[in-house]
Amino acid sequence: MTEPSPLFETYARADIAFDHGEGSWIVDTRGERYLDFGGGIAVSALGHAHPHLVETLREQAGKLWHTSNLYEVPEQRRLARRLVEATFADKVFFTNSGAEAMECAIKTARRYHYADGHPERFRIITFEGAFHGRTLATIAAGGQPKYIEGFGPKVEGFDQVPFDDLDALKAAITGETAAILIEPIQGEGGIRPVPLQFLRDLRTVCDEEGLLLIFDEIQCGMGRTGKLFAHEWAGIEPDIMAVAKAIGGGFPMGACLATEEAAKGMIPGVHGTTYGGNPLAMAVGNAVLDVMLADGFLEGVRDKALRLKQGLASIADRHPYVIEEVRGEGLMLGLKCVVPNTALVKELYANHMLTVPAGDNVVRILPPLTSTDEDIRIALERIEKAAASLSSGHGGR
Ligand SMILES: *Cc1c(COP(=O)(O)O)cnc(C)c1O
Repeated sequence: MTEPSPLFETYARADIAFDHGEGSWIVDTRGERYLDFGGGIAVSALGHAHPHLVETLREQAGKLWHTSNLYEVPEQRRLARRLVEATFADKVFFTNSGAEAMECAIKTARRYHYADGHPERFRIITFEGAFHGRTLATIAAGGQPKYIEGFGPKVEGFDQVPFDDLDALKAAITGETAAILIEPIQGEGGIRPVPLQFLRDLRTVCDEEGLLLIFDEIQCGMGRTGKLFAHEWAGIEPDIMAVAKAIGGGFPMGACLATEEAAKGMIPGVHGTTYGGNPLAMAVGNAVLDVMLADGFLEGVRDKALRLKQGLASIADRHPYVIEEVRGEGLMLGLKCVVPNTALVKELYANHMLTVPAGDNVVRILPPLTSTDEDIRIALERIEKAAASLSSGHGGR
């Protein structure tokens, strides 16, 4: 791709283009097969061309794509009902992306306090290393200077505190605080799981202070940790939750879930979307849930995760000059690197395997939840090989 690109130059793209995929495998335009353990950034949770998703999409494509939310969308109601039954939530708003699900979550929290007679309570506490999207409000929520710089005044109302520091969090709460927003496992920040006790402490603080607890499960949710949502491991529930990425298995969609109480300010006319929840997206979303809610699916994720994590830990032991630590939960794993993370990602490209770099010098391993034992075996083999070639010269094997 040497001719000038007509695209915005916002991405430094690898010089690979893909043509088709099947399961955990994806084939480039030259016919080379890659093991896809990046999943298009935790999106392709059921791998590529999953037969049930393909069949559902084909069938719906021939029937009806779009009607808008001016009318009832039965598949939207059905998907919302299923999400409500599977979670803490009573209410769902469907969006086209993660950032829009986050925007809805932020608006819902602010509107709750407004409806409660406290319009002054609009500020949201977030955490260092967070990522919540690329809209103007969500870059302010994420608080990363590199995403905020040059885009005019930062959207007001976000206060950032250090990761896993309860005293700092408590000190940041004022009479204007509306909510606390956190990713139960930071994704872009470098696969940093929030200690489960800290999540429980946040629930307690929110209850004591009358704040709403918002979870961003856009990356860590939808089965990735071996439960439908990552916060379930802590045994507590949020008031509001943003979901996206895996929810459509590659079809662009997201959702904001809330309790009835938390959603009480979201009355007719205050929020909307043209595409969100359209029949095509909802058909696919329901098909994704068919697979994820099937008996034994999440248990299978936990089994595979254990094997993958153990394998990665022993690779890290053998190649301490390349990989410092394996972190993460379920099939959301990170290799904290000693070498630059991009060097390992590139070496894995050379070994025909896709992974994704993240903050804190981490390489993300985000396999399809449908990966087979054989896929995992091959992944470990390729990571070992890549680590070995980056080790050479450091006395690694
Ligand atoms: C990807 C991501 C987002 C943004 O989702 P988009 O679909 O890219 O808008 C927000 N929060 C988290 C935790 C994410 O991983």
